[in-house]
Order: sequence, then structure tokens, then C-alpha cells
Amino acid sequence: IEASGAPIPSPDGKSQWALFVIHDMTNQRKLERMRRDFVANASHELRTPLSIIKGYVETLVDGHQTMEVADRDKFLRTIQRHSDRLKSIIDDLLTLSRLESATLGVKFASLDIAQYLEDLAEEYRRRPQATDHEIVVNFPGKLGPFEGDDEKLVHVFGNLVENALKYTPKGSRIELGATAAGADEVEFFVRDNGPGIPAADLPHIFERFYRVEKGRSRETGGTGLGLSIVKHIVQLHGGRVWAENRAEGGLVIFVRLPRQRKE
Ligand code: ADP
Repeated sequence: IEASGAPIPSPDGKSQWALFVIHDMTNQRKLERMRRDFVANASHELRTPLSIIKGYVETLVDGHQTMEVADRDKFLRTIQRHSDRLKSIIDDLLTLSRLESATLGVKFASLDIAQYLEDLAEEYRRRPQATDHEIVVNFPGKLGPFEGDDEKLVHVFGNLVENALKYTPKGSRIELGATAAGADEVEFFVRDNGPGIPAADLPHIFERFYRVEKGRSRETGGTGLGLSIVKHIVQLHGGRVWAENRAEGGLVIFVRLPRQRKE
């Protein structure tokens, strides 16, 4: 709490009054700290692949003439992998910052959910990383009308399906669909039958740069920003998103969105 005081003349000018301003800084401090943490985290995440690239390039500059071809190839491929990683982090950071500056930019338009999710599923089924997975679409019941920003929602459901592909073993099944949640909302879900997420990590997975297994997630090309982008877009729609482990094993992400723009 920050407080300040100043003497002011009373309205009739005959005496002195005192004016006190008491300012609750909790939120502002919190925001400042979040911003600082974010810059520190982002710098660290960018620096790691960059240091690796730098190290390998220096070794190549010094020794490429005497080096075995196989070693040189290995070095170059490592540089390529870490450059790709750097690019994904920067792309995700740009997406986040664009979303932050586009609070008013959500374009609500009528959307045929069944068709929309079926098209999305079909697109992912054709991807090479999905050849060993089964992707199914499931609508238990009537959905009713829905309005949303299809371009932004592609990021949401695309990210969730990509995660399910990344974090479940071959042969796993990914199910996406939606159910009506009362007259005003639709509840979308993306579920898998993979390993799920330890209970202690569940509340944090929507935070920026949060990864359950740092090493494994980096190997799979994860930036730790995917779910924070998902959360951001869902909030722009006036909805909410959460994750639960399924009793039968696997993870389910729920996305509950209002049927129409909330005023
Ligand atoms: P990343 O870019 O690392 O995938 P995300 O923000 O998308 O970051 O996800 C955060 C973490 O949540 C991931 O690193 C992963 O450990 C965990 N995770 C996300 N989806 C799943 C899933 N379907 N099954 C198991 N773990 C998951």
C-alpha cells in the first residue's frame, strides 16, 4: 500500500484540510513482477538454443577442414534443429503479443461446429506426425447455434490436437468434439488416452513457458507457450479453459465458450 497526504484549503477557505491518497499497489506490483518474469523467462528460452548454435558454429569455423564428414553433418543438423526451435519460440511470442494488442479484434461469426471440427480433424489426420494416431470427432447430442472467430479458434483446437499428438504414444486415440452447455454456452473437448499430467502440474500448464518435463518437451519441439496462447484466445472469446486427467487414463482439455459475444 502506498499512501500520501497533502494539506488543502477547505472550500470556504477558512481552515486547512488534509487530503490522503491511499493506493493499493498489489495488482500493479503483481503485473510488474509478471512482466519482469516474462522477460527473464523469454530471454532464457531464447538464449539456450542460441548458445548451442553459437558453440557448434565456432567449432565448425575452427575445425571444418579437418573434421570427418559425418561429424560435420551431425553438427549442421544440430544447428538446424536449434534454429528451428528458436524460430518456433519467436513465432509463439509474436502470436502472444499480437493477441495481446488485439483485444477488440475478435470477429464473431456464425460457425457450424460439427463441420468445423471435422475439417480440422481431417487436416490433422493427413499430417505425417498423425500416421500412428487415430483422430475421431464426437458430438454427443444437439449443439445449437454458435458464433466465434474461426481463425483464432483454429489456434486453440490446432494446439490442443498437436499437444495430444506430441505427448501420447503411438497408437493413441484423440477425440475432439463439443456438447451444448445450457442455453448460453458450448463445451468443446479434446481428449486423449495418453499419460495425462501429474496432479501437481495440472494447475500450471496454462502458464507461459511451463512444461511438465522440460527435457522431453524440448525434444518434441515444445516451447511451453502453446497452452498460454490457447488460454488467451479463449479469454478473448469470454470463455474459460481447464484440464483434467481422465479416470480411465489420458488428458482432457475443456474449452467452454459463450454461444455469442458477451457484452
Ligand atoms: P509445449 O509447447 O511444451 O507443448 P504447452 O503450453 O502446449 O507447451 O503445454 C505445456 C505442457 O503441458 C507440455 O510441455 C506438456 O508437458 C504438457 N501437456 C500438454 N498437453 C498434454 C497432453 N495431451 N498429454 C500430456 N501432457 C501434455
